[in-house]
Amino acid sequence: MSTDSGVSRGLLSTLSGRELATYADRHRGSRAAYTRADHLFGRVPMTWMNKAAGHFPIYLDTARGNRITDVDGNEFIDFALGDTGAMAGHSPGPVVEAVTRRMADLGGLSTMLPTEDATVAAAELARRFGVPKWSFALTATDANRWAIRLLRAVTGRSKILVNSYCYHGSVDESLIVVGQDGRGVSREGNVGAPVDVTMTSRVAEFNDLAGLERELAHGDVAAVLMEPALTNIGIVLPDDGHLAGVRALTRKYGTYLINDETHTFSAGPGGATAFWGLDPDVVTIGKAIGGGVPVGAYGLADDLAEALAGRGDLDLIDMGGVGGTLAGNPVSMAATRATLTEVLTAEAFDTMIATASAFADGLIKIISGYGLPWSVSRLGARVEYRFTSPAPRNGTASAAGADAELEDFLHLYLANRGVLLTPFHNMALMCPQTTLADVNRHHEIFDAALTELTS
Ligand code: PMP
Repeated sequence: MSTDSGVSRGLLSTLSGRELATYADRHRGSRAAYTRADHLFGRVPMTWMNKAAGHFPIYLDTARGNRITDVDGNEFIDFALGDTGAMAGHSPGPVVEAVTRRMADLGGLSTMLPTEDATVAAAELARRFGVPKWSFALTATDANRWAIRLLRAVTGRSKILVNSYCYHGSVDESLIVVGQDGRGVSREGNVGAPVDVTMTSRVAEFNDLAGLERELAHGDVAAVLMEPALTNIGIVLPDDGHLAGVRALTRKYGTYLINDETHTFSAGPGGATAFWGLDPDVVTIGKAIGGGVPVGAYGLADDLAEALAGRGDLDLIDMGGVGGTLAGNPVSMAATRATLTEVLTAEAFDTMIATASAFADGLIKIISGYGLPWSVSRLGARVEYRFTSPAPRNGTASAAGADAELEDFLHLYLANRGVLLTPFHNMALMCPQTTLADVNRHHEIFDAALTELTS
């Protein structure tokens, strides 16, 4: 039987069994380590590390640039790059130097005192993303949470609108999808929601301005929180005019617009905001800007920052619900400054994007050579394929095109031959060290996998 993805289910199952056995054989040390982890919930430091096509994770030994070695001595070309946390490459020299200087030479890992590294990092974020007033968190999730609180406070409105099948971190308000009847429902698997998500949130499909307007017209939406392109359900690119339409509608209904650039930063030095000339009220970001060191940030437009600063009733200093003790710590700030000023520079993006273009072009050629109904999307340095064609235009369509078994098979096939993709989807990200030879190696293996799958 052939699946919608265009491959034989029986053959897929046989090949997957073979690859699983190879994986188990090549990763005996990792499996032993996993077996010993009795006091970790789910046997992993964080439960999502169980998202492993081989049924247990690969244990890290070393990571430099775009290379990882595991505890069994296997070396990998890494296109997962910590699902963007390591877009600057693993342990980039300037970040290691800056962090080491702070940690070892100057001292001060967590002091509650500002350092001027934050001033420089904020100025660089302002220059790149066009919003002038920045504040730091430790994760993109928290940057989103705090931005949401601020916009609720300033508008007096209760709801946040997101796109169906978005991901903005573990933010309660974002765990909503468009249900079969076209109305918002809790996302499947939502863990311990504090209240029914429809009380806090509205939802629209990406690329659906009519749906967005219908929801905004209720007049209770404080902010639209969105990625300029969806990146967590494959890459779903905006139709021509969609983002301008979102901006016009948010203005029409007095709703603020937050661009979450955590992943779309791959579009260029100023993310999708600069790449597409967007004009959001707030930009949130995390992961890559710390070069691998935990950091998140949100940037506010001037009028918004002024409105908030003028609100004496809001406790922005102590226990008002916006802040974290370790946010803005000296180590994160040293890392962010170094990443932005010395590693993820405009020149680095030029290289990464050229490499990603070659990755996407090669992928399209291979897939079409086998006549498979798959599609490839690219956003700057990030490339992703889906098992459906043409490329989906919204999250629901993209989710419907998922094929977990096929995805796992390809991840395993690649991992067994020394290439890692991000475990949550078929995403390949380029860092400054990724070479065309690395791209070609991926493509050789991918081609061999498709030969076997279609034989
Ligand atoms: N926003 C987006 C767009 C993301 O993709 C993610 C994580 N994948 C987050 C926010 C949350 O990042 P973190 O898990 O580091 O808080």
